[in-house]
Amino acid sequence: MTLGIVCDLDGVLYLHDEPVPGARAALEAFAGAGARVVFATNNSTRTPAAVARVITERVGHPVRADDVVTAAVATARHLEGGPSRAMVVGMEGLVSALAEVGVAVESEFPEVVVVGLDRELTYRKLAAATLELARGVRFVATGLDATFPTPRGPLPGTGAIVAALAAATGRTPEVCGKPHPPMRRLVRERLGAVEEVWVVGDRPETDLAMARAEGWRAALVLTGVTRDPAAVPDELRPDLVVASIAELPERLGIRISP
Ligand SMILES: [Mg+2]
Repeated sequence: MTLGIVCDLDGVLYLHDEPVPGARAALEAFAGAGARVVFATNNSTRTPAAVARVITERVGHPVRADDVVTAAVATARHLEGGPSRAMVVGMEGLVSALAEVGVAVESEFPEVVVVGLDRELTYRKLAAATLELARGVRFVATGLDATFPTPRGPLPGTGAIVAALAAATGRTPEVCGKPHPPMRRLVRERLGAVEEVWVVGDRPETDLAMARAEGWRAALVLTGVTRDPAAVPDELRPDLVVASIAELPERLGIRISP
C-alpha cells in the first residue's frame, strides 16, 4: 500500500531553526518505507527551492523543491489564467510564484491585491492596498495564520496583515493556504496515487482542518503550537496524538532502522 504523508514544517520538523529530535530518522523511515512525503507550509516568504534547502539543512534529510508546496504557490495556481497584474503585500516567495504563472507585480492598475507575510510591511503599503481594495479589485490572501512562533514569542502572521486590510475595507479575502481548497488541490496533485494519507501537523485550524476536509487521517504532534491535545476543538479531533514526529513511523507500523 502506498502511504502519503503531508508534513507541516514549523512545530513539526523544527522549532524556529532547531530540529525536533528524531525528525531526521522519521523522514528516513518514511522514505525507506516508500511513502510519498509532501511538505506543506503556509509560509509564503520563501520559494519551494528555498524551503527545501531549509529542511535539508536543518533536519539533515535531503528534500527536493518538488516535494514542497507553499501557500504562495497555491495562491499563484489559484490565480493562473486570471489576472495579469497584481499588487503584492508579501515577499520573494510570493512574487516569484506569481511570476511563474504570468502574474506581474504592478503597483498601478492591479486587478488583484495579493497578501502574504511581509516582514517589510509599511503604512504606505497598507494604504496603497486599501485604496485598490476600496476600488473593488480582487482580494486574495495566502493564509489567515494570525501569528507564527519565534523564540521571542508569537509574532504577527499573514492573518494579522490581512485583518488590517479587512478592517480598513470591510472586504473578505479569498484564502489559498491550508486548509483552503487551492492548497488542498496542490497537495493532492503532489501526492499522486496514494492509498492512505496522513497529515502531520501542530496547528488544528490549518493542519487538522485540511485532513478533515479531505477525509485524510490526522496526526497531531505536541512539539509546536498545541501543547494540550484536550484544547483541540471536537470537530478537529485528530486520529492520533504523538509527542513528536519521532514517534509517528512506529505508530503507523513503519520500522525505524537504528
Ligand atoms: Mg506548524
